[in-house]
Amino acid sequence: MSDVQGLKCRECGAVLPVGPRAICEECFGPLEVTYDYEGIRRRLDRDALQSRPRSMWRYRELLPIDGDDILGAEVGFTPLVRADRLATQLGVRALYIKNDAVNFPTLSFKDRVVSVALTKAREFGMTTVGCASTGNLANAVAAQGVRHGFDTCILVPHDLEEAKILGTTVFGARLVGVRGDYDQVNRLCSQIADRFGWGLVNVNLRPFYGEGSKTVGYEIAEQLGWRLPAHLVCCMAGGSLITKIAKAFDELKMFGWVEDAATRFHGAQAAGCNPIVTAVKDGSGEIKPVKANTIARSLAIGNPADGYYAARTIRESGGAAEDVTDAEIVDGIRLLASTEGIFTETAGGVTVAVARKLIAAGRIPRSEPIVLVITGNGLKTIDALQPTARPYPVIEPRLEAFEAAVGAEAASSISSTVASSSTFSPGAAPSGAPGAGRSSWQSR
Ligand SMILES: *Cc1c(COP(=O)(O)O)cnc(C)c1O
Repeated sequence: MSDVQGLKCRECGAVLPVGPRAICEECFGPLEVTYDYEGIRRRLDRDALQSRPRSMWRYRELLPIDGDDILGAEVGFTPLVRADRLATQLGVRALYIKNDAVNFPTLSFKDRVVSVALTKAREFGMTTVGCASTGNLANAVAAQGVRHGFDTCILVPHDLEEAKILGTTVFGARLVGVRGDYDQVNRLCSQIADRFGWGLVNVNLRPFYGEGSKTVGYEIAEQLGWRLPAHLVCCMAGGSLITKIAKAFDELKMFGWVEDAATRFHGAQAAGCNPIVTAVKDGSGEIKPVKANTIARSLAIGNPADGYYAARTIRESGGAAEDVTDAEIVDGIRLLASTEGIFTETAGGVTVAVARKLIAAGRIPRSEPIVLVITGNGLKTIDALQPTARPYPVIEPRLEAFEAAVGAEAASSISSTVASSSTFSPGAAPSGAPGAGRSSWQSR
């Protein structure tokens, strides 16, 4: 049973029946899934939902599926962690990381959109699925496609990061590298979808794919105790994710599940591919396609399909859009890693660096709660860090060699730890504890 009403054109408002299509037949505007929200509200209870399994599918009534055959039932419900050490570094009061770098199964938020799209592909009776990808989507379609018995055909720019190529082919998925940028790959995929009738998740299944991103928003609200943050910072490629988190928050407000508080949406891009940021800053809202050149390959979409709507979401929320250089992206990755122990890819570096920039500029007030959406895992983009990697000593397996390399420094830091712990609670070592009463516990 489904509360989906149909596919509504975001431009002319025409409503089409549910099917594998993404574009309005009347005006070529993008299609969006619409729901009978009254029906959902009557049958779905916020508190009942909290006892469901911890995956994105706990919000299944708000996802555009018809049957019970859910593919990827384990995806989502990633941690929302309070990031006090990063907050201190940035000089803000309350900061949270939504950590989709540890999503299942392929370590990015794309696992969510693929789970919905493949569930839909199965409903439509499709046997081959694929995508046009900047990397993470390829990984997610490959892993879930293979696991659920689809034939796969995945198209990417041929020169992607090695980890994203291997992280696709390892599953046995069919990968095709295209000599061209993402926008050319995407155009080719539209033709392929028409010709072969395959389910290309971000092409002819795009309206369903996009709905999967709403679950990031539901989870953030639930994990904050059914509250919405005052600020949310999100990186943008095609611009879908940020608009869908906004849609999720709007739905929760409509249901009365959260207070009707305003969230400012802040959009983040790399300076080497910033068409949405430019559209927000120049006030036009019109996307002027660019040729991408940035280490944030997963965000390198020069002509973003949802760019116009992302810019509108940001502007209407009173948020800001900002871009950062490749060097700032690397700094952002290191800052998050060294404060919170979270290793994100270049896209997450963009998010952290833009947040830092907006806070420093006073665009995000230091006293209001902020959520950073971290969308991908650092192990996939280690090339970006290689040139500035920290050196470390390599020694012979002998104590003298260790002492020569780090020993003196280490020994002095150990004795200061002991000294400070005995200063903290003098004589507190329990009598049976190792070292109790011995001179090593005395301050010196
Ligand atoms: C795809 C992707 C994004 C952006 O998603 P859009 O919905 O296209 O804006 C952000 N981060 C990572 C890691 C991605 O792979």
